[in-house]
Amino acid sequence: MLNIIPIPAFQDNYIWLIENGTHATVVDPGDAAPVIAALKQHGLKLSTILITHHHADHIGGVDALMAEFSPQVFAPQKEQYAFKHTPVHDNQTIHIQDLDLSLKVIDVGGHTLGHVAYYGANLLFCGDTLFGCGCGRLFEGTPAQMFNSLQKIAALPENTAVYCAHEYTEHNLQFAQLVEANNAALKDRTQMTKALRSSGQPSLPSNIALELATNPFLRCRSPEIMAYLNLPQADPIAVFTALRAMRNQF
Ligand SMILES: [Zn+2]
Repeated sequence: MLNIIPIPAFQDNYIWLIENGTHATVVDPGDAAPVIAALKQHGLKLSTILITHHHADHIGGVDALMAEFSPQVFAPQKEQYAFKHTPVHDNQTIHIQDLDLSLKVIDVGGHTLGHVAYYGANLLFCGDTLFGCGCGRLFEGTPAQMFNSLQKIAALPENTAVYCAHEYTEHNLQFAQLVEANNAALKDRTQMTKALRSSGQPSLPSNIALELATNPFLRCRSPEIMAYLNLPQADPIAVFTALRAMRNQF
């Protein structure tokens, strides 16, 4: 039985900790101190680190955690890392023995070129690719690349729990309501998110069904969004490109 714990870090990052009561895996440890504190608090041994992409707020704690716990580190093959790691590529399945957890690696380039997500056991760790009701900025990839990456995520089973690396949901919901004001699912999600956040809880994990119903970046065929953008005949990639550009200024 696996338990997933959010470790808040920096302003709005989550370092996700996957544990079975004895062993732990962390995803994107940008900072070691809160991870070490969580491991102590729950009495866990760190065996594995999963990295989705190379940004400092996702890898900054790796060296310190390696020095203390010597975990195995998985990181995308298409990116450069100074620390010792096992490179992973699209469609590869990795097995975390201590947790008896198999995860498939999905290439989701766009935010960075080599960005990967990890999927298995109805869990998705997607780094800065998909956010609650939003998606990552395009620092390295093209809109078409990000669109295709998001399509891969959208095709996962609807009950997949989605663990994003930042708490951006409230701001994303404001943008989503601007471009699709009549989406009733969006109103429900806004209420639900406000309740969670005002009681100090994460808005995450999300799930694929909820994202399909509310996330404008997965709804590039929505007539209301297309009309809002004044792109009634455009193809979905053009709609995505316009949405992403508009969100950058929001
Ligand atoms: Zn990033």
